[in-house]
Amino acid sequence: MPDSSASTAPSIQRLEARVIDQIAAGEVVERPASVVKELVENAIDAGAHNIEVRLQEGGMRRIEVRDDGLGIAAADLPLALTSHATSKLRQVGDLEAIASLGFRGEALASIASVSRLELVSWPAGQQDAASLRSDYGHLGEVQAAAGARGTRLVVEDLFAQTPARLKFLKRPATELAHCAAWVERLALSHVGVGFRVEHQGRCLLEVAADADLAARCAAVYGAGLADNMVAIEHRNSGVQLQARVGPPESARRDARRVNVFLNGRWVRDPRLLRAVREGVREFVPLGHYPTLYLALSVAPDRVDVNVHPQKTEVRFRDERLIFGSVVRGLQEGLSRAQWATRAAGPVGSPPPRWRPGSRVSPPQSSLPPGLGAGDTRGAPGSGGWRDPAPPSVVGEGGQAEAVSLPLDTPAGSGGGRVLSVAKTYLVREVEGGLEILDQHALHERVNLEELRQEIRQGQVVTQPLLVPVLVEVGRVELALLLDKADTLRALGVEVEAFGDHTLAIRSVPARLTRLVPEKLLDDLLEIAREQRAASPEKLAEEMLYSMACRGAVMAGDRLQEEDLQGLLRRGAHLPQDRTCAHGRPVRVFLSLEDLEKAFYRRV
Ligand code: ADP
Ligand code: MG
Repeated sequence: MPDSSASTAPSIQRLEARVIDQIAAGEVVERPASVVKELVENAIDAGAHNIEVRLQEGGMRRIEVRDDGLGIAAADLPLALTSHATSKLRQVGDLEAIASLGFRGEALASIASVSRLELVSWPAGQQDAASLRSDYGHLGEVQAAAGARGTRLVVEDLFAQTPARLKFLKRPATELAHCAAWVERLALSHVGVGFRVEHQGRCLLEVAADADLAARCAAVYGAGLADNMVAIEHRNSGVQLQARVGPPESARRDARRVNVFLNGRWVRDPRLLRAVREGVREFVPLGHYPTLYLALSVAPDRVDVNVHPQKTEVRFRDERLIFGSVVRGLQEGLSRAQWATRAAGPVGSPPPRWRPGSRVSPPQSSLPPGLGAGDTRGAPGSGGWRDPAPPSVVGEGGQAEAVSLPLDTPAGSGGGRVLSVAKTYLVREVEGGLEILDQHALHERVNLEELRQEIRQGQVVTQPLLVPVLVEVGRVELALLLDKADTLRALGVEVEAFGDHTLAIRSVPARLTRLVPEKLLDDLLEIAREQRAASPEKLAEEMLYSMACRGAVMAGDRLQEEDLQGLLRRGAHLPQDRTCAHGRPVRVFLSLEDLEKAFYRRV
């Protein structure tokens, strides 16, 4: 609002360039990490092979970035610190296919306006290095200087003259973490470039120029974790996906270990994150994010990178396609992953005939659907269960695969004895150490995978209940469930109305011998209520999870030895057996090395 007390209108004046830069800096330079990001990106754009970052006090006091890239000609030094001056973009048309990380020509001018900066550069073909200083936007003169080939930028006392901005900085340790995170992201996405980060003279990160992706993951996520990451490659209608996913136990409640790159650029987009979580569902505990490196490549004209430099979100031309690819790529990749069956199978047992990654579906056990032959426990009112005929398994190639686990094999003939602890955990020796399984989680996963296989083949083996189970429900609930009757039928659950307030359950999947139909119904009702708006597929999936869980033994259920063995046998060849449907671990592996450490036999 104009000042009403003024007698004349205020005159309009053009802002001084320095002031414009300081205003722009408010958007580009938020904290020391933004400076680190911009300077390292510039070094990458300049074709550097090695980039060194030295920090003091979390970057608040001093940031130095050196590179061995192309350098800047002495005459161009002032331009480098001038806004909207760039060597990377010439015309609007170029915006469509930007190959460099920077293109706005704004970063250095912004940084220079809110810090004391020194730029030293020595390009090839120039006699000496030259330098230029800037003091909170006041440029000095270009001078001859001593220096190495390439470019060196020193940024000191960031925001010292803009106290309002300074106030928002956190402790040096926090700022340092942000700085390091940016270098890590750039190191992950730029194979061929070496990085080194030092804080107060101590090395925090070192990645050699020739380090491959695995070595980069090791540097960023730690060698132990990187060793256990699943590698995924996936190509789908113009979207290429390359990923490394950490094991479930490395998942965290925040997304700090999620690094998603779109055409080499690190992005953090809420919708992409959602797609990621969907893709790793069942592998990662509910409410957690995986340890993840995910690189997406799409044709540049299908993405808009010309969004705000600090807001790392993206705009896609065809979002659904891209998010769908992410979900599918991760799901498929994980379900084939080698680690899913790591440490599966007791010592001395025959090698699994199906291996993740092979093009054949996993064979199903031909054992009766109970835990073992002795399991005859039925649902109330069911009058007992009949064992369904053993399903035959057809490989993806179409040829039938014999299922030859003989029924009369004595339990544990592989030599794997199982110890039950607290009627919940199963402990057994496996190759290279010992394994502890959660009996409920394992059974839930077994149910899930077996049922899924049946559903995929369009034939869930059902167990008709001799006497239907009747459950009283409200009118609305009755209608709600009847409305989903088709979905339920596909899952092997047959329901129908029995009067106005009563639902009759006529059959349930034969595999789920532990199922108490009344309890399942409670769950299904709740899901139907909660997922009212969900797609039929999503609804079916939620219901499937619930059935797998309800049909499983519980923690605290005492199991006979043969039940235990039956369960382990069924769990030995699953496409995914590291987590239950809700992402809790099924098994914990303790290697001999872990044991040796625990007993101080090894340091
Ligand atoms: P942008 O990266 O968007 O072009 P910047 O303000 O970050 O804008 O940099 C301005 C210009 O300075 C760049 O276009 C580039 O020509 C030059 N420049 C900056 N840093 C370097 C570097 N480390 N090596 C070589 N040239 C650089
Ligand atoms: Mg730049």
